[in-house]
Amino acid sequence: GSARVAVIGGGFGGAACARALRRLDSRLQVTLIVPGPTFVACPFSNEVIAGLRQLSEQTFTYDRIAADGVTVVAQAAVKVDAQARTIRLADGRTLAYDRLVLAPGIEIRFDALPGYDEPASAKMPHAWTAGEQTVVLRRQIEAMDDGGVVAIVVPAAPLRCPPAPYERASLIAHYLKARKPRSKILILDAKDSYSQQKLFERAWQELYPGMIERIALSQGGRVTSVNPATNEIVTDFGNYTAQVANVIPPQRAGRIAEIVGAADHTGWCPIDPVTFASKIAPNIHVIGDAAIAGGIPKSASAASAQGKACAAAIVNAFTGKPADMPRLNGACYNTVAPSYAFSLKGIYQPKEDQYAEVEATTSPVDASREVRQREAEQALDWFKAITVDTFG
Ligand code: FAD
Repeated sequence: GSARVAVIGGGFGGAACARALRRLDSRLQVTLIVPGPTFVACPFSNEVIAGLRQLSEQTFTYDRIAADGVTVVAQAAVKVDAQARTIRLADGRTLAYDRLVLAPGIEIRFDALPGYDEPASAKMPHAWTAGEQTVVLRRQIEAMDDGGVVAIVVPAAPLRCPPAPYERASLIAHYLKARKPRSKILILDAKDSYSQQKLFERAWQELYPGMIERIALSQGGRVTSVNPATNEIVTDFGNYTAQVANVIPPQRAGRIAEIVGAADHTGWCPIDPVTFASKIAPNIHVIGDAAIAGGIPKSASAASAQGKACAAAIVNAFTGKPADMPRLNGACYNTVAPSYAFSLKGIYQPKEDQYAEVEATTSPVDASREVRQREAEQALDWFKAITVDTFG
């Protein structure tokens, strides 16, 4: 019969891959395994936290993907036998495959920051996966009194969407400036520098003077423990109590990657950059945030590009053709106010067994408000295009 490809995880990487597989070879039996009937997208979820958007605008179904001929199974994968090539689902069913693509995204590490376990996330939301966590953080910010402090705890690299904590600080500042102008935002950062830092700092001076304070790693910004009962945050150099504590802990590849045996000691999945084949688990490919992809920042646009390139590599392998050399586009927009955004666009290619950035374009630090306004419009266009491409 025709070859069977199973994809675990229906986010930006997995959904793009499943669709591309069917488009490249309509004889393939493609199964997309997802935990539930809908997907909630992280890009633009910072706007939901700031009260600029509804969570419903972030929510997508798999109906169009199923209409493309992909078999969508709404049951989480709980186990994989890589030798037998079978997947066990949460409802006890078993599925057989010839090739497996893992696209499980990230898992929050509840063992990495003392005091921050899963129950703590209900009190100190991370909102680093979208859905209920996004709503919890939004409600806390809405309920906070004027004059309160919102703390954002940022982990060391690697993390999903490296500039998103600073975009979040900006959009929360946008809300507070209008509604609770005596409030402050405190960023406790386990890094010294970050992506597009100059652009963020310039925007904060222009739009939110005196509202956002950032304590970097070398100033004692690394958080060593938290106490959800008191909202206390402890760093190397001091103690802080925030009215709202948005604690973004360290992350690793989604748990199924470890269960399969595709994650290494770092918690992430080493891959061959040309084919996305796992370096440690046979007949398994890994794409998106879960994969170790060198210079490619963990983003929705990168996950989608990887999903398509991986689909092409799998189809080539089935037909005995050599793999194409991937050339991946990534675009990352940061919106700091509804009419003010900037971007980083990159092209990535395999080099010496890892992805390297071969081209990059960043918005200029000195640009007119018209340019920032246009980029804010382009950011929305980008979201519309990628969600239509993935789910529409
Ligand atoms: P995901 O999109 O997370 O999809 C993984 C899916 O797999 C999930 O639905 C998960 O539930 C499912 N899954 C996991 N395990 C299993 C299992 N065992 N069985 C079945 N299903 C499973 N990126 C951008 O490009 N632009 C942005 O502006 C942007 N903004 C962001 C803002 C925030 C606040 C955050 C947190 C992230 C942002 N990102 C942005 C990053 C982007 O969301 C991720 O990089 C992207 O979603 C990664 O895609 P993925 O397919 O690897 O994982």
